[in-house]
Formats: sequence, C-alpha cells, structure tokens
Amino acid sequence: MEYLRSFLPENRILVGANISPDYARDELGAVESAPDVLVRPQSAEEVSKILSYANERLLPVVTRGAGTGLVGGAVAVSGGFMLETTLMNRIVELDERNMAVTVEPGVLLMDLSKYVQDRGYMYPPDPGETSATIGGNISTNAGGMRAVKYGVTRDYVLSLTAVLPTGEIETFGSKVVKNSSGYSIKDLLIGSEGTLAVIVGATLRVIPLPSEIVSLLVPFPTFRAAVSTVPELIRSGTDPTAVEFLTREVISLAEDYLGKRFPRIEGDTALLLTYDGFSAQELRERMDKASELCIEKGAYDVFIVDTEERRAAVWTARGAFLEAIKSSTTQFDECDVVVPRSKVADFTECVNELSGRIGLRIPYFGHAGDGNLHVYFCRDGLEETLWEKKLQEGFDVLYTKAVELGGMVSGEHGIGFAKRDYLAQRLGPNQMELMRRIKKAFDPNGILNPQKVCT
Ligand SMILES: Cc1cc2nc3c(=O)[nH]c(=O)nc-3n(C[C@H](O)[C@H](O)[C@H](O)COP(=O)(O)OP(=O)(O)OC[C@H]3O[C@@H](n4cnc5c(N)ncnc54)[C@H](O)[C@@H]3O)c2cc1C
Repeated sequence: MEYLRSFLPENRILVGANISPDYARDELGAVESAPDVLVRPQSAEEVSKILSYANERLLPVVTRGAGTGLVGGAVAVSGGFMLETTLMNRIVELDERNMAVTVEPGVLLMDLSKYVQDRGYMYPPDPGETSATIGGNISTNAGGMRAVKYGVTRDYVLSLTAVLPTGEIETFGSKVVKNSSGYSIKDLLIGSEGTLAVIVGATLRVIPLPSEIVSLLVPFPTFRAAVSTVPELIRSGTDPTAVEFLTREVISLAEDYLGKRFPRIEGDTALLLTYDGFSAQELRERMDKASELCIEKGAYDVFIVDTEERRAAVWTARGAFLEAIKSSTTQFDECDVVVPRSKVADFTECVNELSGRIGLRIPYFGHAGDGNLHVYFCRDGLEETLWEKKLQEGFDVLYTKAVELGGMVSGEHGIGFAKRDYLAQRLGPNQMELMRRIKKAFDPNGILNPQKVCT
C-alpha cells in the first residue's frame, strides 16, 4: 500500500470491503474470487510501476476491462492485484488519411463506434455487449454479428502498446497495412486474455461507413431447413453482413424478458440477415437474390425489417437473448463452440438429444453465418450436486461433438478459467506445451492472470 500510495491517489486504490463484490466475478457469475487490491491506473507508466513491483515479489495481477466476459477470465482466482482499465478511456487520435483510430484500452466499444460513425467511418467488429472495453475485446479477440462479412477484432488491430510483466512498455505493429517483419507479437497478444501483457493502447483500422443497411427476417419450418440455407447464401455472392439464427424457444424467452412481442412469424426457426452497402439499387439486387434462394430452400416468406417499429422489435429481442436466458433460470453456464457452418444442424441435433436425455433445459442461439453457437445450460430448480454432474456430462458431450465436427472450443468468448480443460482436450499436449512456453517467454514468473487459458 505504501508503494502504491507513493504514485497513486487514495481514491484509485481499493482494498477489502471497499472493493465492490462485482469485481469478484464477471458476467458468467459461476467463478468467484475477489482481488486483494483493486487499482485503477490512468497511464501506461502507472501500469508499468505496478507490474514491475508485482513481478519482483511474485504477486498475481489480473487485468480487467468492463467485466462482461463469460469465462471467468477477469476474475482474480489467485487474489493479488486487479488492474481496472476503465479510467484509461481517451480516444487519442483519428488519422483519416490512414483510416486509423488510436485509443486507450478502457474506451467502451459503444463510445468508439459512435465516435467513428459521427465522422463517417465504421469500426466493424460488433460483439453484442457494447459496454465492453476495447482492451477486453482485443484480449478475447471478440467477434460479433458482422464477422461474416468483416471478420473479427484481430482483423482491425494495426498496432498495440503493451506493458510486459517486467515493466517495459513496447509498441507492436504500426499503421502500415502490410507487414512481414518477423513474428507478429501483436497477433500473439490479441486473444491472449491478459496472460501475456497488459494492453495500454491500440491503433485500429476503420472503414467508410456504409450508407445503406437493411435486415431481412426469414422464417423457416424447421431449424435444419434454416441453417442448411446458410452455406448457399454465403456462396451466392450476395455478401451478407450478418446471418443469425433465432429459435422459437429463445424468441419466447426474449418476449417474456422484455414484455414485448416479436413480429408474428410462422415456423420453428428464423434467419435474420443483414445487408449493407453504398447503393440502394445494388443492395436491393443482392437482397432479391438472397430472398429467392431462401424461398427456394423452403422459407415461408421474407420480411424486410424496414419500419422503425419492426427494427426495434427485432433487434431489441436479438440483443436481449443472453440476458433473457440468464433471467429465466437460477444459474447458467455456456458453451461458445464454433463448428464449420455446414455442421451447425448436426451440432444442434446433438444438443437437443442431450437436453432430452439428461433432462436439462439447453436453449441456444448464434451466428449461423460463421458456425458460432451460444448454448446455455440452465440449472432451473436442480439440486447443486446433480446440476454440477449434469453440467459436466453435458459439456463433455458437446465439446467432444464439436471436435468430431471439426470445430473449436470457443468462437469468441475465450477460454479464461472455465474452459481450460476443454482447450487442453482439443489441442493436445504438444500445442498446450507450445502455449506454455510462449507464456513463459513473456511472463517468466507467471504473475499475469494465473490459472487462465493454458496455465
Ligand atoms: C450480453 C452479452 C453479449 C455478448 N456478446 C458477445 C459477442 O457477440 N461477441 C463476443 O466476442 N463477446 C461477447 N460477449 C462477451 C464479452 O463482452 C467479451 O468477451 C468482451 O470482449 C469482454 O470485454 P470486457 O471489457 O468486459 O473484458 P473483461 O471481461 O473485463 O476481460 C476479458 C478478458 O480480457 C482481459 N483483459 C481485459 N482488458 C485487458 C487489457 N487492457 N490488457 C490485457 N488483458 C485485458 C481480462 O484479463 C480477461 O481475461 C458478450 C457478453 C455479454 C454479457
């Protein structure tokens, strides 16, 4: 405390009961452990001073953005310091000639999106939780609905400034658009979930803001009919920005949660397609082609989500799915697997079969365009030991199935604390050992986010 007080004001150092219980967990809620000291740095130099001190004394340090993660990544499972970045929230520069925006890590996604949009640009990654920080998005390589067309956070990071556990402040990458200059340490830091370094700055690529955006709501009689249309939609050259699937079950949960009706549609599953571009005429042609294809594949109809009322009803419901599932049960845990998009229906058949067999409610929704499913095990009234047993059995079945289908453990939420065993199963001992050696090269004393990802 003496050391911290030598360079930080009292109100940015919190200990014991002064630390809100919210900092003991993230949005998943299932992993709980409070840090011993919560520090709110405002500069890279402050982060550097804390890290070099902690490194000399072998004290754990967990970096936290907004705490919206879903795998216990930002939870201090070994106690120690928590560095909360939300006071490092300046948008430093918009370089219009190089189409690059430089930010501090605690800038919220919603603030960055609005800032660039007001100036005629788009920052394409759009993970559903816009109160997350950019530092958190980079550290989890966050995805979102527009990944089908625009890719994920990694595709927009030009350079990163990070503090190494030993206290050095380094910038990896630059504003250049191509780079063959040795190993890409920037790319190692992206998705490293606070285990390799603390990100204190980022320069991100922006693109011109599309002037036209339209969504289509397409109801299908069955889940399989809906998702088997998706690979063809992607191949059709209509270039959708987002392709989401919405099941009847999850739509009903969102209606109950919001107290608002979703537009009335027939069938078991709907696709929600979004198209964007710069010419209304060209957009209409792409949407017409996509609509014809959906009808050919058995869709009941294609509704243009064009009125303000319909837009609000559809997108408010889509945005509330996770919260709606969470509020429908006493406890939940999630599986964020990604499978090749042609295998989505095979995977959900396995989920349905599992749900019937072990007697657990397992609703799901997801990004059909990129094969990323969000599957939620709901505890409801189940007794604790039974819940844990069924959850374990359920996870084992689903992760095994995902591997069998050529999928990966996490599409966008990361590994954190909760999914380490499944990562090890998927990657095997050689790849895990390689990851541990990379971790050791950055963080020889293992102080950064211990017990996460590969440690
Ligand atoms: C309703 C809801 C919807 C969501 N939708 C999506 C979605 O569509 N796509 C998606 O990808 N995710 C989604 N998420 C998950 C979550 O929002 C993302 O994982 C997000 O990137 C986390 O950002 P955060 O600022 O909250 O980070 P935190 O939860 O605070 O931290 C996440 C991880 O990043 C590390 N970290 C944070 N900041 C730094 C830093 N500056 N330097 C080094 N490490 C750091 C932490 O140590 C931790 O391991 C959703 C979550 C919710 C609750």
